[in-house]
Amino acid sequence: MTGLDIFKLLPKTNCKKCGQATCLAFAMALANAKADVGQCPDMSDAAREALEAASAPQIALVKIGVGPNETQAGNETVLFRHDKCFVNPTSLAVSISDRSENPAGEALKANGLVFDRLGQMHGISLLAVQNHSGDPDVFSETVKAVTGKTSFPLILISGDPPAVEKALEIAGAKKPLVYAATEENYTVMTELARKYNVPLAVKGRDLDHLAGLAEKVSALGHKQLVLDSGARNVRQVLADQTQIRRQALRRFRPFGFPTIAFAVNSQDPLQAIIEAGVYIAKYAGIVVLPSADPEVVLPLITLRLNIFTDPQKPAAVDSRIYEIGSPGNSAPVLITSNFSLTYFCVASDVEASRVPAYVLPVDTDGVSVLTGWAAGKFTPEKITAMLKESGIEDKVTHRRVIIPGGVAVLSGKLQDLSGWEVIVGPVESSGIPAFLKRHWINPNIANTAPAKRMKIDQ
Ligand code: SF4
Repeated sequence: MTGLDIFKLLPKTNCKKCGQATCLAFAMALANAKADVGQCPDMSDAAREALEAASAPQIALVKIGVGPNETQAGNETVLFRHDKCFVNPTSLAVSISDRSENPAGEALKANGLVFDRLGQMHGISLLAVQNHSGDPDVFSETVKAVTGKTSFPLILISGDPPAVEKALEIAGAKKPLVYAATEENYTVMTELARKYNVPLAVKGRDLDHLAGLAEKVSALGHKQLVLDSGARNVRQVLADQTQIRRQALRRFRPFGFPTIAFAVNSQDPLQAIIEAGVYIAKYAGIVVLPSADPEVVLPLITLRLNIFTDPQKPAAVDSRIYEIGSPGNSAPVLITSNFSLTYFCVASDVEASRVPAYVLPVDTDGVSVLTGWAAGKFTPEKITAMLKESGIEDKVTHRRVIIPGGVAVLSGKLQDLSGWEVIVGPVESSGIPAFLKRHWINPNIANTAPAKRMKIDQ
């Protein structure tokens, strides 16, 4: 909708309750996604409904699981990342068969699939329990064994409604994804999904059939859907995923849901990686993998990071105290920015020095020290707040802080504001090992700048 289209739906009283000077200004802000429909309290219900429908993402958001392990798919608005950004990274699911001799062991193995990258933890998001046995009791026992060993949300894969029902009696409260409603079972499956308020995958025979089936399930009142075109060879899955995304962005409602794809056709790990890689790139919301092998999962996580990282948002670490080694109360305190690359350079150089230390990355919105300083994000005020609020004053008995050499200009004001003695460190983080070894010898020795003598705390 254009700003003028939106304006026509507003009360036009210019009452300013929305925080804008006029209704027209509010309409323009809404059109540019800089305001929220709810900010105008006097809008009619019909206008609100029309505007909310127009501003809703073309692909619905579907949530699987509860609590901290909840995983989300959908909410995407573009075909290409450079048009804006992708929102929810493809969720990786590991398949566990109910014919497995040790499903609990496989769940435990999946728990270990967590990788640290630039300070953020990445891994799989779901476990897909498959009803290969065809036996509802075996399936529900497997679901029970898996849920006892992991907190990952589940995908319950069975075409048999009684088996799904038994599994939902065990795991329904954890909001699993039920896979799948088909032409043969969709009324019962939809009823079950509605009863337990869980998302439901819809599996078509081809795209036309999928569109019809998704409409039928929606008409039964269930809107938490995940789509599967039914294709299983890579070429056709790729074509279907692309077509579903294209049509969804054109607001073809039956395709306005995230998709699921299966890379379980081959036992060859390399083939599984290739297939899953294609589906991550184009445009699966969930990809089911054949196994929990790190050599399969790790390259896919790396690929996913490359595709779903928002290039407009620099990678940042949390702004908090990081302990390198086992620092004591006389260990050095180093300030840096929370740009991931900066932080990890500093952290690894501190580690290389073998001088246990505290590193405090100030929140600069993920930009480097010098950029942050130039942009007013790396200031004496922010560093002082970090020193006062992070808890570092309880961890060290001295009051000496080392700042990057590139921002030596901050030292005077920082010292005045914080009450800490400010020591100017090296300009490059590569100079940190030599700097700490040479200068952090005894904190009680008077500061004789530039070579301040401090104790090595180890
Ligand atoms: S609150 Fe609504 S009616 Fe009032 S100025 Fe804003 S848009 Fe117009």
